Formats: sequence, structure tokens, C-alpha cells
Amino acid sequence: MQLIFEQIRAGGDRNFGYLLGDRDTKQGVLIDPSYSPEAFVQRCRDQELTITHVINTHGHADHTNGNARAVELTAARVAAFADSLLVSPDLGLVDEQELPVGNLRLQFLHVPGHCPDHLVVYEPSWRVLITGDLLFVGKVGGTANDDDARIEWASLQRVLDRFPDDATVWPGHDYGVRPSSTIRLERDTNPFLRCPDLTAFMTLKRNWPSVKQRLGLK
Ligand SMILES: [Zn+2]
Repeated sequence: MQLIFEQIRAGGDRNFGYLLGDRDTKQGVLIDPSYSPEAFVQRCRDQELTITHVINTHGHADHTNGNARAVELTAARVAAFADSLLVSPDLGLVDEQELPVGNLRLQFLHVPGHCPDHLVVYEPSWRVLITGDLLFVGKVGGTANDDDARIEWASLQRVLDRFPDDATVWPGHDYGVRPSSTIRLERDTNPFLRCPDLTAFMTLKRNWPSVKQRLGLK
């Protein structure tokens, strides 16, 4: 098995989507092919991949608005969290589920907080971790209230405990100083992951607008 992996700028609010496939079997998936599904499908054609699934990291419209057109162009099945209130997937995914893509094997973890149906997608052979809007380069996903922030903290800790330091991190938006990162780099530099405990995390979340301004971040 050989990995094909592309980070694609979809449009929207600096949205990223992804193409992931196995060169040997010529099977692949699209992840969050929003805004410009035609461009994603063209990349599949250029890579000679048959797309089996359109996967959503979560149900927010800026990640799912290309689903219908991508399915129309590829006849792929939509895969998303099984109990999502925002997406009606053909294939419902649950925590710890695996999905073969050719000879590759994707693993899913349910990581709510930013959105109740949020998943991260991991390819263990190449240690590729697609984090959607849970974890950005230098930031984390927005949360609507303190309860969601607590849930997000638990999801982030689970991701840090679970995946190796050299796993590469591929977020749902280009919000950081670089378009991708690693678990080690985020653990060492992301202010939200450097918080020693939940209390510090909640305080940073509440004060983020002023901290952001002080650090000169977009
Ligand atoms: Zn979102």
C-alpha cells in the first residue's frame, strides 16, 4: 500500500479538505470536500482514484456543503458520526470504528466539544491525523458554552494520550502559522494544550479574544 494524501484549500473561511487514498488499489476517500467539490473530484481523477466515501469530520455546513455534489460526481457513500443531528450518513461511524480504504485502514475517534458529532480520522501506517475543528495549528475549536468547553478539553486529552508525538496534524481550517503540524509541536506550543488543567483551559478560553490580540494572532 502506498499513501496518496493531499491537503486541499476548499474556500470558505480558509477551510481545508483532504484526499486520502491507496495508490496500489486505487481507492480513496474525500474528507470535508466543501465549497469546491468539483476541484476535489478532479484531484481524484488526476490521481486515478475511485472514491468510496465522502467523510465528514463533523456536521457544520462549512464542512458538509459539498457532500451532495461530491456524491453526484463519484457515487461515493457519505460517512459521518452515526448519531449526528446534522448529517444523515449512508455509513454511520462510531467511536473506535475502522474503515478500510484499499489496504489502508482509517480509525475514528468520537471527540465532541466543538460539535457533538465530531470525529478525528487517523491513518496509523503513516501516522496522519485529520483533526477537523477540534484542533487547529496553535488553537482549538470554538465552543458555545462552558459545558462544551469541558467536553472539548476531555476530547483533546484523549487525542494527546492516544496518538504518537510524531503523528502529523491536519486541521479543518488554515488558522495557524503553518498549514499542518505534529502532535509534539502542538503539545509544546499550542497555548490550549499547554494548559496544565481544565481550570487553566477554561480561563484561557474565556480570555482568548484579548490573549489573541496581545499575541498578534489572526
Ligand atoms: Zn466546525
